[in-house]
Amino acid sequence: MARVNPITLAELPLRPELVGEEPYGAPQLDVPVCLNVNENPYPPSEAVRRDMAHAIAKQAGGLNRYPDREAEGLRADLAEYIGFGVGGNQIWPANGSNEVMTQILQAFGGPGRTLLTFTPTYSMYPEYARNTHTDYVTSPRDEYFGLDSARVLSAIAESGADVVLITSPNNPTGTATPVAVIDEVCAGTDALVVVDEAYQEFNDTPEDSAIALLPKYGRLIVVRTLSKAFALAGGRVGYAVAAPAVIDALRIVRLPYHLSATTQTVAQVALRHAPEMLARVDELRQTRAQMEQWLRLHGFDVVPSQSNFLLFGRFADRHAVWADFLAHGVLIREVGPEGYLRVCAGTPAEVDAFEGAVLEVCRHAEMMPAPAGEAISSKKQVRISSQGQS
Ligand code: PMP
Repeated sequence: MARVNPITLAELPLRPELVGEEPYGAPQLDVPVCLNVNENPYPPSEAVRRDMAHAIAKQAGGLNRYPDREAEGLRADLAEYIGFGVGGNQIWPANGSNEVMTQILQAFGGPGRTLLTFTPTYSMYPEYARNTHTDYVTSPRDEYFGLDSARVLSAIAESGADVVLITSPNNPTGTATPVAVIDEVCAGTDALVVVDEAYQEFNDTPEDSAIALLPKYGRLIVVRTLSKAFALAGGRVGYAVAAPAVIDALRIVRLPYHLSATTQTVAQVALRHAPEMLARVDELRQTRAQMEQWLRLHGFDVVPSQSNFLLFGRFADRHAVWADFLAHGVLIREVGPEGYLRVCAGTPAEVDAFEGAVLEVCRHAEMMPAPAGEAISSKKQVRISSQGQS
């Protein structure tokens, strides 16, 4: 048997702020229906896979060499996909938008600097801050999970934030922040404004993007990803779009050769198939709208979403309901404001399985009291007819 050193984590000289921390991540379980991490449920098509295989086979002969450190080809292709007249010198790709965000904080956050986000929002943000020694503060969204510029600007003033992060559409609520609001925020602050548009392609008006504001604001960064719309979560490619000077700052902190040659190639092939990918996005947008309507019809509170997922509830004991879904082979996410669960748009078969599970699981689920002002009994049960209504 291999001999392993028995040292424990507690005996290691871990950075104090990491003591007691757990590695982040949603449960990765072997379950028939996975609707828990906002992935695109459709694998890349046969044609895309064939092109990827060809491109990688061709490239394999050069894998003894380091990749293009500047990812010039991929940046040019991303610029073409994005439009808005942006050039490759305004794009910075990395291993998922996770890495892009970390690089942004490595360059613009750090000791003595503060990152501000608006909750409820993406649960990874505090981790990016912790890992880059950036102070992390939050300010609440309004009762509909929305944001207006007065709210954002007063939170910036109060927190003295150096970096402000607005997620649009927001995870886990699906709420979009209009570009007009971002415009007013940028006009009203010297802080760096980062807009996380990971789910922008799923927005009903995807062209309403903060990228349109880049010519006006040098301290604006828009972050996007190929993980969702391009069905490439396993490929790990996210990117920043910003003024060339911002990109230069990110280039200072990146590790040399941070983006593998295979990653760059796979992303370039995916981008060549953009029309096909975006047709799938249209389909998923419709699926999300149908799921939203179906859940409402069945008496749930559903947060209006501009993304590929929905928050629905509100359950008195959401953990028990989540576990019951799991027992029915459907993995969803226990996340976000009290009483809600999050589900993402799946294939028709996955949606059927989810809706079937809803009818089973939620038949007797006790719901939370409605907010004051709504005349609904506090012991309201979900209205589910035994026939279902799909
Ligand atoms: N931003 C938001 C709002 C997200 O929900 C996610 C993924 N769940 C990411 C960023 C990270 O995406 P990736 O690292 O796969 O690009």
